[in-house]
Amino acid sequence: MQSRPIRTVAVIMAMRAEARPLLEHIRATERELPETVGPLPIQWHDARVGGLNVVVSVNGPDRHRGVDEIGTQPAALNAYVTMIHRRPDLVISAGTAGGWTRHGTRVGDVFVSRDRFVFHDRRIMLPGFEHYAVGSYPSVDASHLARALGLKEGIVTTGNSLDEALDDGRAIIASGATVKDMEAASIAWVAEMLGVPMLAIKSITDLVDQSTATAEQFAVNFASATQRLRDTLVEVLEFCEDRTIADLAHDR
Ligand code: SAH
Repeated sequence: MQSRPIRTVAVIMAMRAEARPLLEHIRATERELPETVGPLPIQWHDARVGGLNVVVSVNGPDRHRGVDEIGTQPAALNAYVTMIHRRPDLVISAGTAGGWTRHGTRVGDVFVSRDRFVFHDRRIMLPGFEHYAVGSYPSVDASHLARALGLKEGIVTTGNSLDEALDDGRAIIASGATVKDMEAASIAWVAEMLGVPMLAIKSITDLVDQSTATAEQFAVNFASATQRLRDTLVEVLEFCEDRTIADLAHDR
């Protein structure tokens, strides 16, 4: 399976405003979900990038509050519906994320996932469940892609809060993660179950270990970070053309 070239890529995104710059750039067109999946808010957008079929799938708005459905359950649902119905060769969890100055990260850096995805806010101190809670779902090795495009690599950790609680911070130090988001590990969980190769591309909007509140940094840096995200995603998609999954790890 890994020896055939990548033909279809699904890009899964949480926020409509994160997706907008990309959708405009690749001139994506909306595509209805099949009726059989039910009245889900997920929004599919189809495009061709070079010879590649690209589906950008956005979680969509919350029916009660109107805000984007960020966080782990909508991400898992989107990932499942999109993988089952669109059969991508590669899934990319794309969006904004937090980083840490203690790792030398700066706002505007773009990361590619490395090694594995974990959770930092699931604490179950019972035999067996402790490791289940943290999880460990594989990332495609994209080290060649990272070097070629000048992107940083890091373990991505996921939780359902924008801020970092003290216990979350301890879990993050233990896991060695350097990128913090609210969706990637749950997409990776679905991808592993369905046997679909998956990686994340994350543009840093905020530094968790800075005195300014995360939400404030996020608001200030969101527009520039999503533009960097768009530019990087276009480069990543172009890089995938005529390459196999294995080619993302090694120079041919
Ligand atoms: N207050 C924002 C909500 C965005 S929440 C608004 O109203 O527009 C943050 C989103 O960006 C999530 O989808 C998450 O994946 C990502 N994100 C950015 N910085 C993050 C951080 N420091 N921790 C966790 N997720 C972060």
